[in-house]
Amino acid sequence: MTDLTTLLLSRIRDVADHPEPGVMFKDITPLLADPAAFTALTDAFAEMAGRTGATKIVGLEARGFILGAPVAVRAGLGFIPVRKAGKLPGATLSQSYDLEYGSAEIEVHAEDLSADDRVLVVDDVLATGGTAEASIQLIHRAGAEVAGVAVLMELSFLDGRPRLEAALDGAPLEAL
Ligand code: AMP
Repeated sequence: MTDLTTLLLSRIRDVADHPEPGVMFKDITPLLADPAAFTALTDAFAEMAGRTGATKIVGLEARGFILGAPVAVRAGLGFIPVRKAGKLPGATLSQSYDLEYGSAEIEVHAEDLSADDRVLVVDDVLATGGTAEASIQLIHRAGAEVAGVAVLMELSFLDGRPRLEAALDGAPLEAL
């Protein structure tokens, strides 16, 4: 394990049965409260943005906003929010996806992405991969390319990675 991984893991709190029984919630608020850990995380994601030739950072609501915005500033790139349906005021592209029970929908402002863009998607946790996969579909429908997906943690037992790899078409998925 690298020093970075050890530092980040020490700042993530496991909360059992939140927000519902059976879920082990990965709480990143201790990491956000520690400037050394938050800076190290931001630097690692910004390095990936540079290495993958990203031109924009997409953050997934809500913790992807907190993690992605400083990455965009550090990398000198624009930040684009992908939000739950109904929150963005302008003309949007929408993408729905299946949850264990029911479905969800995410949106992006159509004018925020174009065919010139290569997008790095940032979020805290990759679980089933449904949210990240839907965001990749949104980016493709906007005509842009996906530079990669950057997450802090991957819950590998939920098999998000194989699901995303098809959608990523060779672009990297990196979990710190
Ligand atoms: P999924 O679409 O199943 O990959 O779920 C990913 C989204 O749900 C991310 O935006 C995470 O913030 C959140 N999430 C899923 N599982 C957890 C967990 N165990 N702890 C914290 N956040 C989670």
